[in-house]
Amino acid sequence: GMMFDTLAENMAGVANLFTGQKTITESSVEGALNEVKRALLDADLNLMVTNTLVDAVKSKAVGMKLVDGVTAKQQFVNVMNDELVEIMGAEQAPLARRTDGKPTVILLAGLQGTGKTTAAAKLAKYLQQEEEPKKVLLVAGDVYRPAAIDQLISLGKRIDVEVFSMGQGVDPVEITKAGLERAVEGEFDTVIVDTAGRQVVDDTLMTELKDIQVASEADEVLLVVDAMTGQEAATLASVFNEKIGITGAVLTKMDGDTRGGAALSVQGVSQKPIKFVGIGEKMSEEEAAKLAKKMINAEF
Ligand code: GDP
Repeated sequence: GMMFDTLAENMAGVANLFTGQKTITESSVEGALNEVKRALLDADLNLMVTNTLVDAVKSKAVGMKLVDGVTAKQQFVNVMNDELVEIMGAEQAPLARRTDGKPTVILLAGLQGTGKTTAAAKLAKYLQQEEEPKKVLLVAGDVYRPAAIDQLISLGKRIDVEVFSMGQGVDPVEITKAGLERAVEGEFDTVIVDTAGRQVVDDTLMTELKDIQVASEADEVLLVVDAMTGQEAATLASVFNEKIGITGAVLTKMDGDTRGGAALSVQGVSQKPIKFVGIGEKMSEEEAAKLAKKMINAEF
């Protein structure tokens, strides 16, 4: 089923515990919160984040003044919703933009196969379609995976976005610098750099990523993580943040059969928001809006 279906069903069950009640009391909330905790852990949410969330819901819900015409059940659901949106960090996380006339630089980093190259093109398309359309240059900095550059070039063609590439034999720091020169010359306002995938967190490649970040004065360093890896995605975001300092995460493959643990844990564990989600091509915009305010929903 759809991601969060089970969680939503469980939450509905919890809310029903308040049916007919006039107020939310410490004792009436206790059983419900135990159920909430079980539902969240079932969804593969990190334990620490679960406890924080349950405590927050408890302190907000207990003794809450009931609004006329709103049932205790509805009020509890509202508190839960607010806290879930909050821990996903979706609402308060716009992309940084430069204001000094130079192009905004967005680096995409992450392990191999997480969907970095796909996300780079989706993000480019998203920015092109914004109310104030951006002129985006894609920079092919993944010089290690043989097909990555061709893949980016072909995606670029499909969405009509220029791709800057120097092939595989060049240092990615040099590629990034040259890409930025091209961006200034071509009056692009946004540069998205696709970097080399890592099999594991590896010091050499981490140093390279840091060098690209420094050389490009990146405004955003987004770690691309795979929702299917659950809590592992949140742990990875923490590790990358400690090593290179990320500004947020892109959560991909949300259309897959995930329990939602990654979506719910990334911000709570790493303190970095999910800035975009990749949901393949299947999910409708409306459905996606339930998950996050900002998203990559581009179809190629
Ligand atoms: P990279 O190695 O990190 O650059 O990963 P790619 O962008 O090449 O993606 C790896 C695979 O995951 C490809 O087969 C993509 O089509 C697929 N993929 C990427 N994003 C998504 C997504 O949001 N949903 C699904 N279902 N597949 C995705």
